This record gives sequence, structure tokens and C-alpha cells, in this order.
Amino acid sequence: MFGIKADWSLDVFERYFTLGDYSGGEARWCPGCGDFAVLNTVHRVLRDAQLPPEKSVAVSGIGCSSRLPHYMGTYGLHGLHGRALPLANGVKAHRPELDVWVATGDGDCFSIGAGPWIHSVRLNMDMVVLVFDNAIYGLTKKQTSPTSPAGMKTNTHPGGAPLPPLNPLTITLGITNVSFVAQVTDWNPPLLYQTIKKAHEHRGTSFVRILQRCPVFSESFTKPMQEHPEQFVLLEHENGIQLDDSVKRVFANTVEHDPRDWLGAMKLAKDDEKLPLGLLYHDPDAIVYEDIATRNIGKSDEEKIAAINAAMDAFAI
Ligand code: SF4
Repeated sequence: MFGIKADWSLDVFERYFTLGDYSGGEARWCPGCGDFAVLNTVHRVLRDAQLPPEKSVAVSGIGCSSRLPHYMGTYGLHGLHGRALPLANGVKAHRPELDVWVATGDGDCFSIGAGPWIHSVRLNMDMVVLVFDNAIYGLTKKQTSPTSPAGMKTNTHPGGAPLPPLNPLTITLGITNVSFVAQVTDWNPPLLYQTIKKAHEHRGTSFVRILQRCPVFSESFTKPMQEHPEQFVLLEHENGIQLDDSVKRVFANTVEHDPRDWLGAMKLAKDDEKLPLGLLYHDPDAIVYEDIATRNIGKSDEEKIAAINAAMDAFAI
């Protein structure tokens, strides 16, 4: 298949991919759901990177956001509750050349998936992890999730969630070998695009917490944020997310923050009054586990047997 790049460029590509090449079935989320914005942004990032759709894999667990692989024109795997990350690590361990995307939610990742979350961040395999955080279990209709704010009325806590919410940013930042942590809202398209693009360019596990609108079950979580953008602080730095003026007009509070500064990132993440937006932490030099896990891929059976024998000989008396 041949195509010509748009905008009158004379560059001729063997294949030129359009947004349609990355799109799957018709998305069936509720009207006004923030998941649409994230899906469209992933399509755009892939289109702009011109990655062949057959070289990408979208992996998910269970929840509203975990329907994302169905809406991608790439390979996809809709897995088990809380197990998106181990599945993605498995894909990467055997097919390291594939571009891996993970869609998970606050219930899926921070509750039943909390163990895999911690170990996957430490493994730092090359993938983009998008956590759609709407502070509620939406698919199962309004149960308290680990990030439900205290006092939020849910079907499991009609009198209000009794505990303060878990902080996904401080926890992720606290994991050894963490390499990329960002936070963004689903309702600012330029910032969402630049954040996911930066996450995709990073080699390692890019953890992106997306504050996501669920107008059906947790409007009280994001509505005040939308109405009061002054409660956010936008992180600026030449090594951070590129911010255009339209983003700065919406989020007027800005602070200079070098994403290499882990302690500074932790301080920003702990601030409940001013929520950070942008790239909190970036370490491009962290160990990427597939560099270790895949070194024997491609070896012949004879070479593998010889390696096993050599390892066993180490114990010979
Ligand atoms: Fe989106 Fe909430 Fe509807 Fe789920 S229940 S599709 S999160 S709006």
C-alpha cells in the first residue's frame, strides 16, 4: 500500500497511516466520558509517530477504561482484573520490539492490581501505562475505589467514603527504579497530547495518571477541578512537557520543576491543595528489564542447552 504525506510534502512513504488505521470498533462509553479524549489522543500519538498498527499492542485489565483495546486498530488483549501489567510485561519479555500500551483504572491498578503495579514500575519495561483515574468503580456501578475522596457517597459507602484516598503519585515515585511519572487531566487536549507523546517517547515504564471524568458516577470528583483550574499547578521545564500558550491560559499557576529532581517531585505529589500537572519525574537512565529478560531470545536450542549445562557445571564438585 502506498500513500503520500499530507500538506504537500514531497516525502513519499511506503505506507502512510491515518487515524482510521489505529481505530477499532465504535467506542461505547457513556456520553461525556473522559475515556473518549484519551482514546483519541492515543490514536493521534500513534498516527504522528507513524508506527505500523500491527507493531503495537494495547493491553488492559477490567473496568470501563479497559475496553480501550477493542477500540484500537492494533493488536490487543483485554485481560483479567488487576492483571494488565503482568500481561504487558509478558508481551514485552517475548516480543520486545512491539510498542506496548496499557489501559487500566484506579480500581484495576491501585486495588486488586496493587502488587503488579509496584513490581511492574520497578521492572521498568518499555511501555506506556495510562491510568484512567475517575475515583470510582464505574463498570460495576459506583463502588468506593482506592482514590475516592473521603466523604464521597458511593454504593458501598452511602454515608461517604471513610478513609482519605491513596496517593498514586507518591506511591509510584517511591518505587525503586521508577523512571517516568506524569499527571494530566482528560479535559485539556493539548496537555493530554503532549504528555502522552512524551510518555511514548520515553524508553521504560511511563506511568501517566489521568484525572478522568465519569459524569455518571463520580462527577463530584472532577467537576470542581474543571471549575477551579487554579487548584492545579502546571510544571514547566525544558526537559518536561512542552506547553503551549493555550494550556498556560487555562492553568495559570505554574512552577519551574526539573523532572530529574526526585525530591522536588515527591513534594509536589504530596501537596493536596495544589495538584501538579505535567511531568513530575523522569530518569531516562533507569534499568529497563527487557534488556536483561530478552538476552537469550534468538539463541538456538543447542546454544540454550550449552548455556544450561554451563550454569549447572558451576555447582559440580
Ligand atoms: Fe465512563 Fe463512567 Fe460511563 Fe464508565 S460509567 S463509561 S467511566 S462515564
